[in-house]
Amino acid sequence: MIDQYARFMDDVVDLVVWRYDGALKAEHGTGRNMAPFVETEWGSDGYAIMCRLKELVDPDNLLNPGVIINPDRQAHLANLKQLPSVEPEIDKCIECGYCEPKCPSRELTLTPRQRIVVRREMARLQESGGNLLLYNALDAEFPYLALDTCATDGLCATACPVSIDTGQLVKRFRGMRSSAAAKQWAERISQHFKLTEWALRWALRLGHAAESVVGVEGMRRLTRTLKRFAGDNLAQWMPDTPHAAGRLPRTKRAGAQAIYFPACISRVMGRLPGEPKDRSLMQLTVELGRRAGVPLHIPRDVAGTCCGTPFSSKGFSSAHAITINAAVERFWKWSEQGSLPIVIDTSPCTYGFRTARSYLTPENQERFDQMTFVDAIEFVHDQLLPKLPVKTKSRFVALHPVCSVTKMGIGAKLEAIARACSEQVTIPLDAGCCGFAGDRGFLFPELTQAATRHEADEVKAKQPDECYSSSRTCEIGMSRATGQIYRSYMYLLEKATR
Ligand code: SF4
Ligand code: SF4
Repeated sequence: MIDQYARFMDDVVDLVVWRYDGALKAEHGTGRNMAPFVETEWGSDGYAIMCRLKELVDPDNLLNPGVIINPDRQAHLANLKQLPSVEPEIDKCIECGYCEPKCPSRELTLTPRQRIVVRREMARLQESGGNLLLYNALDAEFPYLALDTCATDGLCATACPVSIDTGQLVKRFRGMRSSAAAKQWAERISQHFKLTEWALRWALRLGHAAESVVGVEGMRRLTRTLKRFAGDNLAQWMPDTPHAAGRLPRTKRAGAQAIYFPACISRVMGRLPGEPKDRSLMQLTVELGRRAGVPLHIPRDVAGTCCGTPFSSKGFSSAHAITINAAVERFWKWSEQGSLPIVIDTSPCTYGFRTARSYLTPENQERFDQMTFVDAIEFVHDQLLPKLPVKTKSRFVALHPVCSVTKMGIGAKLEAIARACSEQVTIPLDAGCCGFAGDRGFLFPELTQAATRHEADEVKAKQPDECYSSSRTCEIGMSRATGQIYRSYMYLLEKATR
């Protein structure tokens, strides 16, 4: 392998220097890797001047020894780092670190690069039978540091030169960690998702009812008591969980220009504590479509339909496949074989559907190819905004573009909606993944705290009047972080065009 690399480098140098008279160095590979070829590129006279300059400035060779100026003709083949093959999701990683600033867990546990490095080191130690103590320590810490605190948002892939989504590796490991019984349960839940949705809505209603009886402080005490008896994870679902969403608005199929799919979190979760008690997101979306002359239809049997992200993020691939295939079959029927577009009101779910093709059966793949999944941001920007005159602009609003908005490249449309409806818009420079990731914010709130710290500081300093986003769970995360209520941008549009 090293011989092969040596021959490759010699061929590259021949091609670039001798055939095309080109430059060997671009942004990378200017250090040790190209050091043996600097003289070839610049000629003996030029190289001699460089060596003399180096000697003059750094006579004891303290500054970056061995880099650029290096007499060893084999320097590019020495001390090569071992990159053992581990999993196909990450094997291409060159450990450059470009992904690190994007990662919501970078200030809490590990960055994507560090997750990969730890994984490789564990594989190396396992294979070589080396330092058992170190291996055991890494093995003990890996579940929390690498797996539990990854938001599986895939933002790392947007910065990676070889498009590695470390979240995919994490999903694989989460799947491997799950017992056969857990996978069976996940499959059962996916087959009866309507029941799960109903149970969740009632759980939230009961939580809301309890809060109205004992008050917010009473709920906090109840939560503390629950923590003592049931552990942190269950209790964390209680205090800030939003109230359940209301009923599905009635819509007509006749004349509808699109199928409106309210994501399961829109159907289940409602208002945040302290949020104005106005209409639900579903009611608002239907109303805006009606006002703009672009009527929407919500199928009556929409309950129980889901993009499957809650399963895929935990590595329950079979439950995910069941859910997404069932959803595509329903969409096919609702959209009348793809003749109507499907508008989805929660950006991570739109992304979940748009990237679902490889999990579908061949028959559903054919259906999928004929259907159009539109995020509500695109729908509002392209279809509603031009038809709804803005009457009252908000003064100053902040936006939180969620990860899937960035990945789908529709952030500019979200910003355009906000700019049309307000005098001033801010998107914090540090806006990134909030780390809520469906359930991570409930189960590991420290992840959301760490991920949102800088963005929240910026929002607090700027003091916008209103804050908007496009996913309820991320809105919960940002509301907790900033102390301001984040809502769907639909509320901004509705207010401005009322
Ligand atoms: S950006 Fe990609 S190649 Fe570079 S360290 Fe991160 S995952 Fe690896
Ligand atoms: S998926 Fe998100 S949280 Fe996980 S490593 Fe990548 S950027 Fe970090």
